[in-house]
Amino acid sequence: MPDLLLATTNAGKIQEFRLLLKESNYSLISPDDVGLNLSVPETGSSFEENALIKANAYSIASNHLCLADDSGIEIDALNGLPGIYSARYGGEGLSDKDRINLVLEEMKDIPWHLRKARFRTSLALAWPDGKNTVYEGVLEGFIEFHPKGTNGFGYDPIFYIPSLKSTAGELSEDQKSQISHRSKAASQLLMFLHG
Ligand code: IMP
Repeated sequence: MPDLLLATTNAGKIQEFRLLLKESNYSLISPDDVGLNLSVPETGSSFEENALIKANAYSIASNHLCLADDSGIEIDALNGLPGIYSARYGGEGLSDKDRINLVLEEMKDIPWHLRKARFRTSLALAWPDGKNTVYEGVLEGFIEFHPKGTNGFGYDPIFYIPSLKSTAGELSEDQKSQISHRSKAASQLLMFLHG
């Protein structure tokens, strides 16, 4: 099986990718597996640009086919923020829980019908010869008033999915993998890989 290097150190993402890409004919490896410790500044102005920057950087450094994800949450009432700044919203030193509390505080006076939000993912594949390709996935929802559930990562506990009547933080890994923004992008990627 050929290797596919996951260009991320986010343990939550690595875990989701292992599940989403289990049907791929690739052996999924992490930067740790190849002794790579890269810090890639996310200087792009969109998820797509940042995913490509990360995938290309890891691919050149490792000489492997690489997959990078850039993702985040866009909240209408916050003019689309945290968006591409989701991982560092409010400052580098904050935890996921701190960031959730910050968003809830900023939205404390926003009524339910104005709490629309979406998770967005861009997945970029990059080959060492410079070829690359990108896939997108979106999951629509609402920002809850209080965190619910302890599964997943990031903003999952405050992201309410109307069709499932629960937050992403209340879903099992399997449930999330059937509907998530990342799974939608991953299924297009799998179709491409399987030709
Ligand atoms: P990235 O590493 O720059 O792509 O950061 C993405 C950030 O967006 C994560 O650290 C989370 O805060 C948030 N995020 C992305 N996908 C998800 C998800 O599926 N659930 C919850 N938060 C997510």
